[in-house]
Amino acid sequence: MDGNASQTTVETTPAPGAKNDAPMIDPFGRHVSYLRVSVTDRCDFRCVYCMAEDMTFLPKKDVLSLEELERLCSAFIRKGVRKLRLTGGEPLVRRNIMSLINNLGKHIETGALDELTLTTNGSQLPRYADDLVNAGVRRINVSVDTLDPQKFREATRWGDLEKVMAGLAAAKKAGLEVKINAVALKHLNAHEFDDMIRWCGENGFDLTLIETMPLGDIGEDRVDQYLPLSKVRRDLEKRWTLSDIPYKTGGPARYTEIAETGKRLGFITPLTHNFCESCNRVRLTCTGTLYMCLGQEDAADLRKPLRASDDDNLLDAAIDEAIGRKPKGHDFVIDRDSAPAVGRHMSMTGG
Ligand code: SAM
Ligand code: SF4
Repeated sequence: MDGNASQTTVETTPAPGAKNDAPMIDPFGRHVSYLRVSVTDRCDFRCVYCMAEDMTFLPKKDVLSLEELERLCSAFIRKGVRKLRLTGGEPLVRRNIMSLINNLGKHIETGALDELTLTTNGSQLPRYADDLVNAGVRRINVSVDTLDPQKFREATRWGDLEKVMAGLAAAKKAGLEVKINAVALKHLNAHEFDDMIRWCGENGFDLTLIETMPLGDIGEDRVDQYLPLSKVRRDLEKRWTLSDIPYKTGGPARYTEIAETGKRLGFITPLTHNFCESCNRVRLTCTGTLYMCLGQEDAADLRKPLRASDDDNLLDAAIDEAIGRKPKGHDFVIDRDSAPAVGRHMSMTGG
């Protein structure tokens, strides 16, 4: 498939005045209703599976302003997006991020959006938890891979578990519903899932385990990190009563309920069980690049049509054209001989 998206987008000329609110339906009949937006590629952590230690970040001039991001998000909402998740990099390290979140929250008030949420490493939650609730955010995902402070430092390179715990306490106090995300890694947390299930139960958090995905060069071999969740689940079922439940959050996780804690345990298994057939998502980066699939290189440049005109006609046409190219799915593999499925890191496209 042609990866040169900008070429395609500038050639698209809508009929005059043809503002287009038509819902976004892809070639496989999937209705795109979920937008994930990476608001920055920067982060205050350097997780081993996500980033190399010395990352080169985007120059500021390439990054969309918060006003431009809001205009893009609003166009997607007008075209049928009902759920919007902010991610990154670390969304809460972007300067003045609350102005964007407050403005997007207005779409919740009008009923145009069902849910505004974010995925965060939790380090900035002591500062922002109350503001998030006031903006209309009700649920957040917080990434915590281990409860051991030393291991946490190893996994995140720069992270401080104590700060994240303070962030989680602030989130609870503010009334945010919290789901913990943990990437399953052979040498890091393979023996910790029982403790995490217990800890989440005590704190009222749901937990989702994620298989590590082959995205971007991280300076080490992913085979050494990869832990198949099919195996983890079989092992957990020796000690916990897990029942499959139809609970859906719009994301790719399949959920079980843990009888012993009453909380949910989700599995995101892009490698052992492909979830593409029900994919309703597209991902926007902070440069205005739209990825129609997390695991494919093809993308559309929305920054050009956004900046080319003050009305949204060109932008709408570029979005429609991009959705028409949404691929059937990804084909992740992790083995010794395989390069990353795509060259970009998760911090660029957002998790
Ligand atoms: N900084 C925020 C955080 O860590 O929650 C948001 C961005 S982070 C890229 C989003 C999620 O992607 C996190 O839960 C992280 O653990 C996950 N992630 C990052 N790289 C990954 C990879 N290669 N495979 C699977 N999950 C990954
Ligand atoms: Fe930062 Fe999140 Fe990536 Fe960790 S997973 S380096 S916290 S963006």
